[in-house]
Parts: sequence; structure tokens; C-alpha cells
Amino acid sequence: MIRNHPGDELLSSYSAGSLPLGQALCVSIHSEFCTNCRKKLKRFSQVGGELMLRLNRATVSLDLKNTILNKIDEDSDSLERDHQDMSYSGKNKVSNVRSGAGESSVPRGLRQFVKSDYQEMPWRRVAKSIHNIELFKDDENTKVEILKIKSGGSVTTHFHLGDEYTVILEGSFSDEDGLYQQGDFLVRNSWDEHTPVATQDRDCICLAVSEAPLQFAGFFKRLLNPLIRLSYSQN
Ligand SMILES: [Zn+2]
Repeated sequence: MIRNHPGDELLSSYSAGSLPLGQALCVSIHSEFCTNCRKKLKRFSQVGGELMLRLNRATVSLDLKNTILNKIDEDSDSLERDHQDMSYSGKNKVSNVRSGAGESSVPRGLRQFVKSDYQEMPWRRVAKSIHNIELFKDDENTKVEILKIKSGGSVTTHFHLGDEYTVILEGSFSDEDGLYQQGDFLVRNSWDEHTPVATQDRDCICLAVSEAPLQFAGFFKRLLNPLIRLSYSQN
């Protein structure tokens, strides 16, 4: 069950197309897992469409208005269908899932990076229990990656020097604030300190978008460098 969702501000910015790419990917992937947020996004896009139409009332024909509203309905229906297909294939095409965990499936928005199975990806080891695949850099300061935390593995004293967005793709992890499961959407802000631990039963795979550590100079650089190095160290 999904307990953590993007706030309305993020959803409406996503709907308006004004989020940076990495954050937009997280909202999009979460909404593939989450019926509630898909409904909200549909509402936001309808409101946005209505506003546009009102602003351009003098120049918009009824035909165009109907075309736009139909397109919104079609897009929402097709996302709904894809989601049902995804659940269906997740339950039935077990051959795609090496671990045999039937609920596993790669969200549509990630299939350009992950064809069928996370386990077959070229994982890079970043610490004893942590592997990653860097997908792309959104801009100079933002890294978009998939992280795999080995079952039972933890990341000690994980500091953030920028905002970090996470969507759980498979498995689960817990930290001081609770348990996070498939589909959960988390935002951590600068200077949050927490210790995520993957649950024992399976690896936790998540999409993570993080601002790269800022370049500090002089005194602050000496002060902060140990913290930067800690960000991927683990027990
Ligand atoms: Zn949601």
C-alpha cells in the first residue's frame, strides 16, 4: 500500500510541464503505481485546459475545445489501460522476473532504460550493499539514477546536500520515520539525516534523483567534505 505521495504543488507543476526532468520522471513513475495521483493529475490537466480555453475564449472554436478534452480523456484512459496491463503481466509473466516475485514489473516510464529485468542491468558497485545505474544528469547539479540496496543492507548517516526525490520500484526499506514500499514517493530536503535499511526479504530497488553536492570553498569545503564522502558509505 502506497502511503507517501507527491504534494499537490508538485503534481500541479508536473501537470503544467514546469518540473525539472528528474523530478518529473519521479512524479510520472509514482503515478504509474498510484491511482489517486493519476486521478489528481487528470483533474489538474483538465483545470489547466479549462483555464487555457477561458484565456483564449475569443479564438478557440468549440471543435478545438472538444478535440482537446477528448485527447485528455484518451491519454488518461490509455495510462489506465497500460497500468492494468502492467499489473496483469506482473502477475502472469513470471518468466520476466528472475526472483519469481510476481508483483515485479518495470514501469512504462523507465523501459527506455530498463528493458525487462532490473537484475540484468550493468550495476556499478558504490558501497558494500549498494549498487547504482546512472540514467542521466538532468543538469549540472542533478543526478538521476537507479539504486539497489542489498536485502538487509543499510546506508549509515546518509546526509543530503541538496533535495533528493526517491520512488521505490521494488522491495522496501525503512528509516527512522517508517517503512516505504513499492510506489512510495519521498522527498528529502537538504540536511535531513537518516539511515535507510532495506528489508531482509529482498533487495530494494529505487529511482533516486539528487542534487549533486555543491562546491564549497575554503573552511566550508574542509568542514563538509567528510559529510559528502559519507553520503554513500555504509555499515
Ligand atoms: Zn500517489
